[in-house]
Amino acid sequence: MRRKINRILVVDSSEVARTIVVRILNEEMPDTEITTCATMRDACAWLERQRFDLITTALMLSDKDGLEFSRYVRASNHHRYTPIIVVSGDADTRLLREGFAAGVTDYFDKSLGYHAFASFIENFMQRHSGLVGRILYVEDSRLTATLMLRLMEHHGLQVIHTTHAEQALELLQETAAGGPRADEGFDIVITDFFLQGRLTGGDLLHAIRTRFHYSQQEMPVLVLTGAEADDRQIEVFHAGANDFVAKPIVEEILMARIRSLLLIKQQFAALKRQTESMHRLAITDSLTHVFNRRYLLDHGEQFIADRSNHPVSAALLDIDHFKLINDNFGHIAGDRVLEKLGELLLDRLPERGMAVRFGGEEFALLVPCCQSNTAHSCAEGLRREIEALKPAGVGITVSIGLASNQHRPDMTLTQLLNHADQALYAAKAQGRNRICA
Ligand code: GH3
Ligand code: MG
Ligand code: MG
Ligand code: MG
Repeated sequence: MRRKINRILVVDSSEVARTIVVRILNEEMPDTEITTCATMRDACAWLERQRFDLITTALMLSDKDGLEFSRYVRASNHHRYTPIIVVSGDADTRLLREGFAAGVTDYFDKSLGYHAFASFIENFMQRHSGLVGRILYVEDSRLTATLMLRLMEHHGLQVIHTTHAEQALELLQETAAGGPRADEGFDIVITDFFLQGRLTGGDLLHAIRTRFHYSQQEMPVLVLTGAEADDRQIEVFHAGANDFVAKPIVEEILMARIRSLLLIKQQFAALKRQTESMHRLAITDSLTHVFNRRYLLDHGEQFIADRSNHPVSAALLDIDHFKLINDNFGHIAGDRVLEKLGELLLDRLPERGMAVRFGGEEFALLVPCCQSNTAHSCAEGLRREIEALKPAGVGITVSIGLASNQHRPDMTLTQLLNHADQALYAAKAQGRNRICA
């Protein structure tokens, strides 16, 4: 959800500084178009002609002063929200004192060097990526909607507008996780409090929290209210709104609220991604990418008890004389063999099946809805395929022990695996590279 900064205006009186900045920014951000100028007069002329996404300026310009230029930008029509970064050689106290009032967004200390400048700009872009997102906007007044849509779209937001809460609920349903349009989900909802139709904005809000179970972090909601008494505002918060904006809408206030809600949403999404990836790491064997033993012990019991999986076939698969492979080809080649075998098992595993690294060079497979005779022929196919595989250039064979809960549906995971283990032992004893059940 990162916002792309496409055009940067660089204002600096020093030609050397301009040349270096352009070269470095072009190198580090090749998609960005850089325009440079030496004076405030030139800069103002450029601002009239084009829209920029970011402005950097020196503190001292040959004709004017950077802060004066900043005040000009803030008062302009098209660039009043464009971030301004002052690039200066010394941490000027005047900048700290007057920068805020002049509308300076941030400040870069030039003595850190121009390479640091490029990473500063990239970092800055990340921090100011708040206004990217998909908004579901519910508003019945055509006039307000026209104004709001123009404002939000002007700021680069993607807005889907509906006039009724009922329509909004349908859209939320379709874009919810598991829905037909789950990848078109919304980042935040903005709704008018009073809506025509059976449901008000309050009802919509209530449904978002109680029917969809979206938390305030997962689906922030901003409510537009009239200039009413505190009671309405309290009501709005009770219904689960994150915030409200009173009509008539003031652009700066609206945008500040949207920005902070999008930030909440982005942090929620980042945290969710991180949690999911941690979870994946915790249940996966890092070398072979199949599940680890702990996952089998935590989920296997339920897997075989689940009647919709019945009958479950279990296979224990052990590489023959693997120790010799390590001894002859080295441990690293041994690891590559395990990795390749894991890849093959994942590829051949039937749908909803579970592949697990059970021990060093031993794998367990649980296959749902699989009769014993089917399991036997599949295992035979797998055995032959592995014999022909030559992972990492090394010829290997495997022994496989099979067991099933077909005739004893109440069997525990331990019992099932014990049976498979006994069968594996028998396969080894009978000369390896074979299957026993
Ligand atoms: P058998 O046919 O009886 O199964 O003989 P084997 O040599 O395969 O069995 P054994 O249990 O004696 O040896 C297993 C070897 O697997 C010993 C161990 O060093 C090796 N091993 C276990 N985990 C790994 C691993 O992650 N990487 C590598 N390279 N080797 C491993
Ligand atoms: Mg209304
Ligand atoms: Mg072995
Ligand atoms: Mg073994």
